[in-house]
Amino acid sequence: MDLFDLDGKVAVVTGGNRGIGLGIAEGLAAAGATVAIWSRDAARNTAAAASLGSGAGGFVCDVTDPDSVEAAMEATVARFGKVDVLFANAGIGSAARFQDLDEEEWQRVLDADLSGVYRVVRAVVRHLQGRGEGGSIVLTASVFGSRGLPYSPHYSAAKGGVVNLGRSLAIFLARDRIRVNVLSPGWVATEMTESTRGHEKSNAATIERTPMRRWGEPADFAGPAVFLASDASRFMTGAELVIDGGFSAG
Ligand code: NDP
Repeated sequence: MDLFDLDGKVAVVTGGNRGIGLGIAEGLAAAGATVAIWSRDAARNTAAAASLGSGAGGFVCDVTDPDSVEAAMEATVARFGKVDVLFANAGIGSAARFQDLDEEEWQRVLDADLSGVYRVVRAVVRHLQGRGEGGSIVLTASVFGSRGLPYSPHYSAAKGGVVNLGRSLAIFLARDRIRVNVLSPGWVATEMTESTRGHEKSNAATIERTPMRRWGEPADFAGPAVFLASDASRFMTGAELVIDGGFSAG
């Protein structure tokens, strides 16, 4: 269907070398997009880009470093000529109860999970506004961006910030025909959730708490990503798309 066609589009996926980001990148590439993977690990970036085929490229980018983000932007435009779509998906997890949190860990998580999103959005928006042809931006938050997570208040706070950053940007950028939406995953089987899945009780509790009775898989994000990037969602902005097997319905 033409509505979902991404032929001729260039899409940046931060954190695209594994996990949910790679699931997103696979969907975009299958729909015809040229994908630029932005993550820190060069070898993994190269392997992920090779697995996508269709001219995908890996670009070393650390979202906690403004210069690194600007360099990745410059290199991507130099190689592909433009960017149409951004998935600001890179993020880190962290488990620490409030009483055990210190300033350093608070800053580390906020810097990667909230300020990192701001930095990549800033670079891509400048480019999209300069081109004047609109675009689609998708921020990965979490179901815990709108509910509490007692053993990770800093992560939940950062993700709540991402949800509201998305809403604010959507209003501000609508005049430039740049849509901004938020993708909120539930529990997904990736490296980030390895320790939970490795703990028998926590693993069983997570599956039990999810109405679809399974962990999400990175491939579950391919379809939603194509929908949000493409004209299929052309009147949708400022929205949060929850992909969680029913977790937050209860
Ligand atoms: P993974 O740990 O599997 O992947 C994280 C990705 O982010 C990797 O590609 C990693 O690459 C990249 N990354 C981490 N830090 C940075 C950084 N400073 N700069 C650039 N890239 C970075 O995690 P998931 O796939 O599970 O998570 C993806 C997103 O989804 C995150 O934002 C996460 O918070 C969110 N999420 C995940 C859920 C889950 O259950 N898994 C649930 C809800 C939300 P590299 O190390 O090479 O930089």
